[in-house]
Amino acid sequence: MKRVFSLALAALLLAGCTAAPTDSSASFSAVTPETSTAQEAESTAATPAPAAVLRPLWLGDEKAYYMDEMVTGELIRYRVADLVNHVADVPCDVEGCAHDSESCPAVFRRGECDRVFVLDDDTLVAFTNNQFPETEDSQVVLLDRDCQNRRVVATIPNSCFLSMMGGDSFSSPYTDEQSLYCFGYTNASNGESALFRIELENGTVTNLLETAPAQGLQFLGTLENLFVFSQSDVTYPEPTGDLTADALAAPTGTTTHWLFDPYTGEWKVFQTYSSGEWNLDLLDIRIVDGQYYVVDRTAGALYTVDPTTGEKREITNQLPTSDLNDYSAHYWVAAKLNDWLVFDDLSVIIKADTGEVRQRAYLPDNYWNGSSHQPNIYLNLGDTLLVDCRYEPYTRTIIGTDGTPYTVDVEHEYLGLISTEDFLNGVPNYTEVGEYTT
Ligand SMILES: [Zn+2]
Repeated sequence: MKRVFSLALAALLLAGCTAAPTDSSASFSAVTPETSTAQEAESTAATPAPAAVLRPLWLGDEKAYYMDEMVTGELIRYRVADLVNHVADVPCDVEGCAHDSESCPAVFRRGECDRVFVLDDDTLVAFTNNQFPETEDSQVVLLDRDCQNRRVVATIPNSCFLSMMGGDSFSSPYTDEQSLYCFGYTNASNGESALFRIELENGTVTNLLETAPAQGLQFLGTLENLFVFSQSDVTYPEPTGDLTADALAAPTGTTTHWLFDPYTGEWKVFQTYSSGEWNLDLLDIRIVDGQYYVVDRTAGALYTVDPTTGEKREITNQLPTSDLNDYSAHYWVAAKLNDWLVFDDLSVIIKADTGEVRQRAYLPDNYWNGSSHQPNIYLNLGDTLLVDCRYEPYTRTIIGTDGTPYTVDVEHEYLGLISTEDFLNGVPNYTEVGEYTT
């Protein structure tokens, strides 16, 4: 059914046809096509109007960055990097506390405490239980900025939230100041992902994907007040027995990017990619700061697509090119820094407004676990970035769940603030703020 639906939809789009499809398959009856690009599905839930533009929640702000660390196999505790005073510590003011048992206000059992996100100047929010999928209830918890005064906003039965790393458009929760939006699973959704809307005022929870016109949706980010999902309808070639060749065999079919309006319940096809023109395993598309960036690797072109008009705007066609099926090449835009687009894996940076292409000035590499990497951006504060700036090897002692201590050789990772200008110019002028833990 899914395949029929997607192919029929693709055919409809290619034909630019505005009439209703003659093939009235069961799949199609789920939506009411009105134009060639808008497929609406009625929302069964009340739809609060947007109080403000959807924005991702981050793990910190200019004041603090929030982390977890393991105490034992069962217990974890909060740790906070103070970005003003440049120290990291456990948020506990109990005198003489060792911060290693549940009597410490910063220590919790796993599943009760997860990464906290900054909601506003006074409030943090945690989406608990992404450790034990579908076995327990998940809670949405608000806390004061010192990680105290926990209060449960909502409980979602038999559900779990996706592991929220934060820091990019597709693994962050969102808010419009009236509701929280978070991805996860629930037993009620039969293994399909869920987009939970949690209304802050009354704790009402709605799974907004219940009326989705497609399955297997993967979240990409938001554009204006729309959630963007990817859905692939592809077939891989029969295995040949050559493991390397099979692993690199490109699928045939289509990948559709959908726009979902959480306020009207409308679903709309935004972009469709077909295996005739694209390697659907290697779509170089990222949403960064509310912009949809596409790289056409064979043309060396980078462009944006407007979610309202569908208009494409080319930023440059001067990127280094690569073969359509080159699995070693990646063109994902990682961040926009002072209007420069920085890539995960590309040695050039691009000025977003002029298209100027410049060689990336690298910072000294970090060495971790036997390999090197450029500093990762954990928090983008505009003029300033929080990054991993230094690693030191050490032997860590961990108390196992049975109480037996054991050691592991690991590396201390240290966080540092760096000006965005220094980052772009490869100048390693860091202000360390303490150890990174997670
Ligand atoms: Zn303590």
